[in-house]
Amino acid sequence: YTPDGPVAKRIASVTPYFPFKGIPKFYDIGGFLKDPEAFALVVEVLVERYRNEDITSICGLDARGFVLGPPLALALKKPFFMLRKKGKMPNVVTGEAYAKEYAGNDALSIPRGAVSAGDKVLVIDDLVATGGTLLAAIELIKKFDGKIVECACVVELKFLDARGAFDKKGHGDVPIWA
Ligand code: IMP
Repeated sequence: YTPDGPVAKRIASVTPYFPFKGIPKFYDIGGFLKDPEAFALVVEVLVERYRNEDITSICGLDARGFVLGPPLALALKKPFFMLRKKGKMPNVVTGEAYAKEYAGNDALSIPRGAVSAGDKVLVIDDLVATGGTLLAAIELIKKFDGKIVECACVVELKFLDARGAFDKKGHGDVPIWA
């Protein structure tokens, strides 16, 4: 997938200046959710990539990771868990606040018991921009001595250099696949 390539229009629609002027292009995966063929294709690509990987569980990020993660978890017959924005779930551990691509800070919470030492977790979200959200997820999973197999996203905004951000925060060992 490349944001301006021929498949892009089926996968993600683009809205300029949302949620505010500083964001020239907002990619919305609603573009493929309303197209069952394209949605099935996205899930199939993910299933094929991870079918033979050693994965213990799949972690979806709030909120669009909740759309992509469950069909993948069902196809691979793996447990699925959610990392939610703070304040949404009981019985959780909340990580450090992180800055978002657009305005403000957020923090993610992980359900207690979702990750045990040695677990091999696949993290999934719709889009990686600065990498701040993925890094927050990585830190929570590593806090419980889980290993991140890969971070899978449909869209990567390469100019925001999430991979560089991973390196700077000492998580350059975690691959992003988009
Ligand atoms: P990051 O933390 O800066 O990498 O931003 C990624 C997070 O913000 C993901 O959870 C995305 O769903 C959301 N996000 C950032 N930019 C966009 C966009 O252009 N379209 C849809 N979601 C976005």
